[in-house]
Amino acid sequence: MKLAHWQADLHQIKQLRLFNQVALDNLDQLLKEFRAYDLEASEVLLSPFNRNQHLYLVIRGRLRVYLGSLDNQAVSTLEVGDCAGEISFIDNEHPSAYVVAEQPSTVLRLHRESLLELFRQSPQMMQNLLELLCDRVRKGNRQILDSEQNANVDTLTNCFNRRWLEHVFERESTRCALNEQPLSLLMLDVDHFKAYNDRHGHLPGDYALCLVAHTLRNQLRPKDSLVRFGGEEFVILLPELAASDARAIGERLRKSLEQITSFYSPVGVLPGVTISLGLAEMQTADSLQGLIARADAALYQAKQQGRNCLCG
Ligand code: GH3
Ligand code: MG
Ligand code: MG
Repeated sequence: MKLAHWQADLHQIKQLRLFNQVALDNLDQLLKEFRAYDLEASEVLLSPFNRNQHLYLVIRGRLRVYLGSLDNQAVSTLEVGDCAGEISFIDNEHPSAYVVAEQPSTVLRLHRESLLELFRQSPQMMQNLLELLCDRVRKGNRQILDSEQNANVDTLTNCFNRRWLEHVFERESTRCALNEQPLSLLMLDVDHFKAYNDRHGHLPGDYALCLVAHTLRNQLRPKDSLVRFGGEEFVILLPELAASDARAIGERLRKSLEQITSFYSPVGVLPGVTISLGLAEMQTADSLQGLIARADAALYQAKQQGRNCLCG
């Protein structure tokens, strides 16, 4: 980090969010405390290994923020007008992230003590910093939510994955048991899918799996969970439904796929697929594994009976 030649520019300073609506005499005083520094591309400005005593304001270029390790994907980008270091600046702890210049950049640096003094004189500046922090927290929360959702969803079919099934089973089985309501589970498997792949290719096979997921999902209630259990196997958790109702739903799902003899995909028109299904209703004190084992046994029976049918 090199001290930069920077001509204090009140107009430029006023554009920065931190100084939005801050009285000019405060800013005048502030300018004397600022030092500008140039960063080269890839230069690390902040790291969790170094205590930070400064607030940085980006006035040129762009910086990136990394959590955990510099090998991870950047979680956010700091543009002109953004701050860096404000969290460690406030709590005087080590920075929580790495901040690295993505390209040659210039930052204004202000020591903790100087800004704290200014905060005493300018509640507006304090409010601006709080707003910047709120933005940061909200962005962080959105990222947590996104990564949580990604961790629960299969990327090919957008169905939930096994991790979600375990979580939702815990919740729904407890809820249904408390309300003395039934809960059913369907296990289904695409018929002769190896032959489908062999005949049409793996990518067309992927599109067929997406068709299955899409067709099933469209007919389920929001409280049902469609889970991609493995390669071409899916599980559907049906809260509040006894075996007889779940059987009717399974039959409807089976028929709807049977009726799709061909479909449009990005690689052209492809033949549809059929599914076999196994059904099990939850018994008192059933575990997820127990319920799945019974649905799987019923599915095996459906395969034995010639496929494209439902057992259990
Ligand atoms: P069955 O009717 O008895 O279920 O026969 P099957 O051929 O469907 O069963 P098998 O278990 O022998 O083959 C499953 C096939 O599913 C093999 C595998 O290549 C394919 N498969 C699994 N996951 C995927 C996937 O993500 N994409 C594609 N295209 N194929 C997959
Ligand atoms: Mg299978
Ligand atoms: Mg199969």
